[in-house]
Amino acid sequence: MLDLKGRWVLVTGAARGIGRLAALKMAEQGCNLILHSRDISHTASLEEELKAKGIDCHSVAADLNDISSVLKMLEKIDALGVDVDIVLNNAGFQIAYRTDYYNTPADDYEVSFNVNTIAPAMICYHFLPKMVERGFGRIVNTTSGIDKEPEQAGYSAAKAALDKITKGQGEMEDLEKIDELAKHMQKSSLCALGQTAPNPILSTMKFFKDEYVAHIQDKTCPAGVCKSLIRYEIIADKCKGCTLCARNCPVKAITGTVKQPHVIDSTKCIKCGVCMSNCKFGAIITK
Ligand code: SF4
Ligand code: SF4
Repeated sequence: MLDLKGRWVLVTGAARGIGRLAALKMAEQGCNLILHSRDISHTASLEEELKAKGIDCHSVAADLNDISSVLKMLEKIDALGVDVDIVLNNAGFQIAYRTDYYNTPADDYEVSFNVNTIAPAMICYHFLPKMVERGFGRIVNTTSGIDKEPEQAGYSAAKAALDKITKGQGEMEDLEKIDELAKHMQKSSLCALGQTAPNPILSTMKFFKDEYVAHIQDKTCPAGVCKSLIRYEIIADKCKGCTLCARNCPVKAITGTVKQPHVIDSTKCIKCGVCMSNCKFGAIITK
């Protein structure tokens, strides 16, 4: 099991349900917590409970339907001066169930994409570079099987988009579609919220286009973090044959004898990252 003691975890939607339980579980593992909710008072009792157990803990607030609020929250987290090692993008918003598909209002899409796709994406993009720089990080994006429900078209589309981004199943045409949709949204939105909502997407597409292309065309994640697109490898020259990785691999995907380079069987590997965290010689990399 990965040693998470002292790691800082951001849990969105931590006030109740799965988010609250996840926060408590991470605290049991020795993690420190940053608890997100819409209003800081919503996580006050959980913060108190965790602090009573000796856990270092902060509450932050943001309306995930308001991307400027999300960005302000990220600034506040930065100001805490802690390194966020793990992000659990748990918060989500489920729109109304509509059997009258053709009358699905545009709002369903706008709110759903803000909360379920754009906000988690912004949170990922904020913390990912720092995780890569430090050589450790985990991000869990919560989606659901709801991505095929016509009665919740806006919600389904938003979750499907998040799934697609996370799994690296994009196609080059998607970039044009995203660009077109984002610009259309800027022009057709009635309020400043809608007009500015696509800005983060457009700016990441402008400044990190090569990363989008790598995910789509090469099916690789240059940052080495998208689970579906990476594979773990042991660099033979660096491996000291200490056996620690093999002993800790939960699916016995690593073989090798003492003082000899070890090897990972990628057909068995479930990409949990335990070996990489355990290796003291930096011999395990993601590709
Ligand atoms: S933990 Fe690192 S050094 Fe030890 S056997 Fe595994 S890869 Fe080699
Ligand atoms: S990443 Fe793969 S090889 Fe490494 S510990 Fe996890 S399952 Fe085993």
